[in-house]
Amino acid sequence: MSSEKGESKPMQTKNKILIAAISAVVVVGVALGIYFGVHNKNNSNSVTPPGQNGTMINGTLFPYYTLTGPAPAPVGVAGMVYTTCKTPNTFSISFDDGPSEWTHELLDLLDKENLKVTFFVNGNNQGCIYDPKVQSILKRAFQSGHQIASHTWSHPQLTTLTVDGIKTEMTRLEEALEAVLGVVPRYMRPPFGDGTFGNGNANDVKVQTTLKGLGYVITTWDIATTDADIDDNNVPHKLSDQVLMAKEQQQVTSVVEAGAKGATHMQLMHDTYMRTIRLMAPWSINYIKNLGYKMVPVATCLGDEDPRTWYKKIGPAAASTPTTCTK
Ligand SMILES: [Zn+2]
Repeated sequence: MSSEKGESKPMQTKNKILIAAISAVVVVGVALGIYFGVHNKNNSNSVTPPGQNGTMINGTLFPYYTLTGPAPAPVGVAGMVYTTCKTPNTFSISFDDGPSEWTHELLDLLDKENLKVTFFVNGNNQGCIYDPKVQSILKRAFQSGHQIASHTWSHPQLTTLTVDGIKTEMTRLEEALEAVLGVVPRYMRPPFGDGTFGNGNANDVKVQTTLKGLGYVITTWDIATTDADIDDNNVPHKLSDQVLMAKEQQQVTSVVEAGAKGATHMQLMHDTYMRTIRLMAPWSINYIKNLGYKMVPVATCLGDEDPRTWYKKIGPAAASTPTTCTK
């Protein structure tokens, strides 16, 4: 208890001067540290806001990530079509066509599991991106550290459009994402994979050249759960939970088991089906975890680990946005 008594005694003048001198040195040191710290960070336009986690990049906060130094050069190549991951032992699960009314539940699950995925979002498909409810889900997904990528404005078959039509589909969504989130994606997935394979339009030059010109890395999948083909949100469902899960799980296990141990995969699902989120996503996460895979977003598994490389433009979100898609 003696130390407590000692500390309560008035300080002697000599000690006061010493402490003042030390404090002055500390203050100058901290000031210089802050100056050079901020100065260095300004080189990459990134600043960690005081009292907050994450990093502010050009006016957009990445709350989940601490990003220092200049952004690395992107690894994913514009115009290339990637059907699976490149980093060994990685597995990405991705969700197309949303956000939907079920996406919050998926975000809860992913938060609980501390996993990051890729959302290939539309502008005006199942819902309108400017709908305040949709905007809030999108913001939550972005701020939770998930990758937001493009799935076109209105989900058309890109091979059926003119070059200008393809450009409009891409740039209209860019405009919306820039307004809502402050970012424009570098990654996209063509609806139905059209223009990259299947649908009788294998490697469509018009689609791929146009997307390349816009700077897009094209990513498809090597596993499709086929939820969009066999599931529905009707009551009652066409297929029972049991039958549906057996079919979807078989789509996953057949591809994984046919591959080498640790072979990479890109799995496609849709966050527009209740049972994808309540049944298939949890099952997939367990299955993939038990096989020892590292689950990461699509860009990360292609080598773009720094989220600054997921977007071709990062800036402040718009102060106000439309609230409907009619314009
Ligand atoms: Zn789709």
